[in-house]
Amino acid sequence: MRRFQHLIGGQFEDGAESFASINPATGAAWALMPRAGAADVDRAVTAAHRALNDQAWRGLTATQRGKLLYRLADLVAENAQALAELETADTGKIIRETSAQIAYVAEYYRYFAGLADKLQGAHLPIDKPGMDVWLRREPIGVVAAVVPWNSQLFLSAVKLGPALAAGCTVVLKASEDGPAPLLEFARLVQQAGFPPGVVNVITGFGPDCGQVLTSHPLVARIAFTGGPGTARHVMRNAAENLAHVTLELGGKSPVVVFEDADLGSTANAVVAGIFAATGQSCVAGSRLIVQHAIKDALLAALKAKAEAIVIGAPQERATEMGPLATQRQRNHIEKVVTESLSAGARLVTGGSAPQGMQGFYYRPTILDCSGTEAQAISTELFGPVLAVLGFETEDDAVRLANATPYGLAAGVFTRNLARAHRLTRDIRAGVVWINTYRAVSPMAPFGGFGLSGSGREGGLESVLDYTRAKTVWLRTSDDPIPDPFVMR
Ligand code: NAD
Repeated sequence: MRRFQHLIGGQFEDGAESFASINPATGAAWALMPRAGAADVDRAVTAAHRALNDQAWRGLTATQRGKLLYRLADLVAENAQALAELETADTGKIIRETSAQIAYVAEYYRYFAGLADKLQGAHLPIDKPGMDVWLRREPIGVVAAVVPWNSQLFLSAVKLGPALAAGCTVVLKASEDGPAPLLEFARLVQQAGFPPGVVNVITGFGPDCGQVLTSHPLVARIAFTGGPGTARHVMRNAAENLAHVTLELGGKSPVVVFEDADLGSTANAVVAGIFAATGQSCVAGSRLIVQHAIKDALLAALKAKAEAIVIGAPQERATEMGPLATQRQRNHIEKVVTESLSAGARLVTGGSAPQGMQGFYYRPTILDCSGTEAQAISTELFGPVLAVLGFETEDDAVRLANATPYGLAAGVFTRNLARAHRLTRDIRAGVVWINTYRAVSPMAPFGGFGLSGSGREGGLESVLDYTRAKTVWLRTSDDPIPDPFVMR
């Protein structure tokens, strides 16, 4: 079995223990991963803290930091195929998706590389004569970056990129599910020439690794992506170190389709929104809210497309949908689909595992949940299950779209420009796509409302989020400072 290692303080090393990683397409163990315990986490954070104050990193100009990030971007691009193959083997995500996504990850590093020397402080107007006051932007400190199993390279880039551009140092915790691509990425960090300890990459489980990391007294900033339940733990952990926290969490994102929408394009977007990555995407468009007049026609088109999806081995180029990442995940989906059917939902297609396939496969599933309280409407499934609801009026559509404590993303399909603008304003979500779905870019901030989290990743301001402001007062007068206790 292939063995992976941690990167701590510039050295590759085994963890206190190790654990087997399962290939979701076969259900068999294929690699041994290091498992960080409290002592490993402490060494990683201490290394990051030492590097933060070491001239090898601190003494670099912002332009030099940017050049290191450009180098890292080039290495990611050069190694994209190898990284994609690892991600496919360890998570079951299909090779078509992993290779396209990882090639684009290089663009994220390029974007943040370019920002490194564009960060500026400010000179402040002040109401006191004889004083000069300015604001310095400094790196916030040691960053604990924690990512979930899906898209680990992508979700780390939106944390590492701005953190390194700002001059921070990082301990990156890969998920215990599918950590191979991030542990391999650590080798590219070394090759790029970052000084030891600037980037540390570890993996391990929630209680003995994630918790120790996010409550560590030397951590100043936590960038977390995962589920809302875990996020609550992270917030409690951060009560220890009072670190600045940003949270990118789950969703139950609505796709609202009006009767004037282009049916063919909309069907393609809905299918991509829920069945890409086997539905294991935080922005999965898992609730279809469709106007009654076109509901039957759209469902017929979606059923035909869902049934034509090629399910198969994730490493095959022809495969369009691979397995779920874990057995646990498939059990959860099966339970909620069964409950939803007994709550009155109508099965349009899917609803079971495909016959005769090993691994954690599940068929693309559409449930018409109109008029029911089925769990599929409200529970984030992180799988290929679309819950459908019908509506009559625009007000109904907005009410249904907002009937969730989440607020990550939403899609609106209509040719009516005025209506599109009204929905952009009225839908409660951090990202609204009009007549498109799932588009992302390093230039566009991304993040959620409500249970979908707080803070934004991507865009100019995300780099400021890794800085702390220092206000400096300089007295410009040469006159002596008068004795405060002598009355004049
Ligand atoms: P998870 O919340 O179970 O795990 C996320 C990470 O947190 C893992 O690395 C895990 O080891 C760590 N962790 C667990 N317990 C911890 C603790 N007590 N303290 C600190 N860290 C701890 O998530 P998952 O099941 O791996 O991923 C699925 C979830 O991630 C879904 O809810 C999905 O929507 C969300 N997600 C959100 C985004 C986004 O950008 N908004 C992107 C992808 C995934």
